Amino acid sequence: MLLAPGELRTEPLFADDAEGACAGGRRLTLDERMSRVWEGLRAAGTAECPLCGGRLELLGEVGRCGSCGTTVS
Ligand SMILES: [Zn+2]
Repeated sequence: MLLAPGELRTEPLFADDAEGACAGGRRLTLDERMSRVWEGLRAAGTAECPLCGGRLELLGEVGRCGSCGTTVS
């Protein structure tokens, strides 16, 4: 992706994702990250939170992070 610096006008609401995309580096997409989270949740009942790196635990139908409170479903 080639962008002149002057064209980068939007606020980096999701700085990590935006930087990864613009730098052209190979990063996991959100879908891939969520797939890995669910693999862990199904296999072990816990997984690493994709947002904060904390511990997600399977609660019924969703995974919930004990550190930042994010839920994944
Ligand atoms: Zn978290």
